[in-house]
Formats: sequence, structure tokens, C-alpha cells
Amino acid sequence: MNGTDTRDLGGRSTSSPEPLVPLATLIGRELRGNGGGGSDGCDKLAVKYGKSALAKRGEDHFLIKIDCVRVADDPSSSFSVFGIFDGHNGVSAALFAKEYLLDHVMSAVPSGIGRDEWLQVLPKALVAGFVKTDIEFQRKGEVSGTTVTLVVIDGWTITAASVGDSRCILDSHEGVISIMTVDHRLEENVEERERVTASGGEVGRLNLCGGQAVGPLRCWPGGLCLSRSIGDTDVGEFIVPVPHVKQVKLPNAGGRLIIASDGIWDSLSSEEAAMSCRGLPAELAAKMVVKECLRKSGLKDDTTCLVVDVIPSEHSLLTMMPKNNQNTNKLRSIFGKRSLSSNKLINRQSSFGAVEEIFEEGSAMLAERLATTESSSKPNTGPIRCAICQIDQTPDEGVTINGDSFLSHSSKKVEGAFFCADCQKKKDAMEGKRPNRQMITS
Ligand SMILES: [Zn+2]
Repeated sequence: MNGTDTRDLGGRSTSSPEPLVPLATLIGRELRGNGGGGSDGCDKLAVKYGKSALAKRGEDHFLIKIDCVRVADDPSSSFSVFGIFDGHNGVSAALFAKEYLLDHVMSAVPSGIGRDEWLQVLPKALVAGFVKTDIEFQRKGEVSGTTVTLVVIDGWTITAASVGDSRCILDSHEGVISIMTVDHRLEENVEERERVTASGGEVGRLNLCGGQAVGPLRCWPGGLCLSRSIGDTDVGEFIVPVPHVKQVKLPNAGGRLIIASDGIWDSLSSEEAAMSCRGLPAELAAKMVVKECLRKSGLKDDTTCLVVDVIPSEHSLLTMMPKNNQNTNKLRSIFGKRSLSSNKLINRQSSFGAVEEIFEEGSAMLAERLATTESSSKPNTGPIRCAICQIDQTPDEGVTINGDSFLSHSSKKVEGAFFCADCQKKKDAMEGKRPNRQMITS
């Protein structure tokens, strides 16, 4: 008999005369007693996953890597990565991102850092890796594009980065559903509409003959419904690869991630998806979400779903998670929330059972997203590494700091992001700036 056998799913104790105690409190006592869970108890958690997909166009792809290590030959530095890539106009961008994105993210992580520092720099490394992948794919001259939702799980810390509309939700043990991503859809995201328009794109619907506007909002040129993606070489640079990044720490009881392409979310709400598979093991849960989507809407698009349970290793979320929970109406959506520009680190103290939000940022401005917090009083004579491509540059190679000439800053403390000439060009194009505008006179 283990601890969970002594109470039923309603949280009642069948062997104790004590008054009713919330389930989360009971589990908390038990976990604390066992010394399990928490950020220092990484070896005490289990990551279990299931995947399911039905292809209509064959443009959705998964990435599942449960055996990554940050430090070579050091199993204690292990982490897992899950990703969904929903391609459009062909599969090459999705396949390219699946192949290279993680490497590009890891190349932006400084070597020789500890676990806390790695988790702190990870959001920035994700931004650099997404942009580098986009630049490299565009060099191939192919026209396809892809959404990307990439989730890094290290201990109880979950970091999700995404462009496009492949959503990731977190169903915490206490039945609260939070959304880890933002849908970069022009139709639903007014901030993105404003950004695209300010960067030189036009937003509007398709016009039929006779002037009748149909379908969702799209940006022109290109006609894409998404405002962010990797690839899309033939669409304006205002379709940016800069991901929304959110980092949270799970409570000791763990939680369930559902990562799925828009084929699922066009049919199911976040709450419906979570509810359709509660109480099921991950493998079956993924199948149930796809099945529920089919039941509701039929196969209209590629429907791809990953379910990942991060749970204390000696316990099963199945027995601890109530199938029906009165808290499920507490859908907490961060959709539409403005990005935090002044103070990017959010530390919300949480009680046991709640998800602690550590970081969230969705700005498309690279200088903000890649700025370093360190400052150096040394004269800047040595090479400087580009914050995107990670290639070392010397000052005479045209390094810029936040868009200004490197040399003009040479006597000041350096704070900000460093970009090589090529990456600076990309950054300017994304922001709708044309560096050679002064050439266009009369
Ligand atoms: Zn560069």
C-alpha cells in the first residue's frame, strides 16, 4: 500500500479521523515528507510523453528528445525537448527547423555555466536560435515557412518558445489551465497587427471580384495569416522569427503539457483539450485529444498533438489528478497580455500547488530580447560575439550595438546586444527600417 491508496480522488481520507484537507495539501505533505520534487530534486521526477497525429497535408512534424545534456558526459545536466513544427507552402522549413533549431539555441548558451544560470539565459538563447535558424533557412532561397513551438523541460522548470499558432497549454495538478504560448495570428492578435503595419506590411482580407472581403486577416505581400514564423522567404520581413518565450516552475505535484498544431486548436478550446484526456496516461491522452478533435470537426487540417507529463517519479499523476475538478473554469490565458518591457523577470511567489511564473516576454524587438545585462568596463578592443549568429567579430568588421556604430561606444560601458553586419541587416529589415534609405534621394 502506498500513500495514495489511503484516500480516494475526492481527497477524503479513508483511514484518518482528521477533517477534510484539500488534495493538494495532502500531496504536498507527502512529497515534502519524501523529499521529492522541487528544483533540487530533478532526479525525482519523470517525464512521460505520448504523441498522436493525423495528416491531411503532411506538413506537421515532431521533435522529441528526452536525452539531451547541457554538459557532455554529465547526466545530471540532462533536459528534455519537445517541439511541433507546422509547415506551410511545403515541408522544407519545418524539416530544417526540426534539424537545426536546437543546435542553434544551444550554441547561444555560454559554456561552463551552472544550472541556474542556464535556465536564466535560456529565454535569450531561444530567441537567438530561432532568428539564426530563420536566417540560415532563408539563405537556401526556399519559400516554405513553419510555425515552431519548442518546449525545454529541465527539472520542474518548463520553458516554451513559439512563433505561429501551434499552442502549448499547461494543465497543472490543481486543475488550472494556463497557456504557455501566444497565438501569432493576425485575426486575433491586435498587437501583432500593429507591429506588422508599423513595419511596412499591410493587413487585410482577401478581396473577391466585386470587392467582397473574405477569410481571416492576412498580411500583404504574401497573404499569410500568421504574423511570426520561421522561413517564408517570399513574404515580407515583418513576418518575424522572434519567439514569445515563457518560463514557469511547476509545483511539486507536477503538471501536463499539451502541445498541438492549429488543427487541434481550431476545433478544441484549451479547456476542452485538457478535459478530454484528464486521468489518462500520456500516450493515450494524445490519442484522445486528436480523437476528440476529429469527433467535433472531422479532419480539416494536419492534427498533431504531444502530451507530456512532468510528474514526481514515484507517483502517478493519474491517481492524483481528479478527473473532474471544479477549478477547471479558471482558465488563465495570457493571450493578449502586453509584453513586459521594463521588468522582464516576473517572480510571483506561489503557494504549494500553483505554477510559479518566472519569465515571460513576447516583444519582436531584438535589441530588447538579446540585450545583455552585464556591463564591461574594459576597453572594447577584442572580438565581440554576434548575439544572433554567435560568430566573433572585430570592431572593424562592422559590429553594431543596438543599431549604433560600435566605435562610438568604445569608451563607454557596453550594455546591449551585439550584431554582426548581416544580422543587423536582418534586424533592421524586420523592424521595417531600410539602412540604405539615405541613398534614395530625389
Ligand atoms: Zn551575426
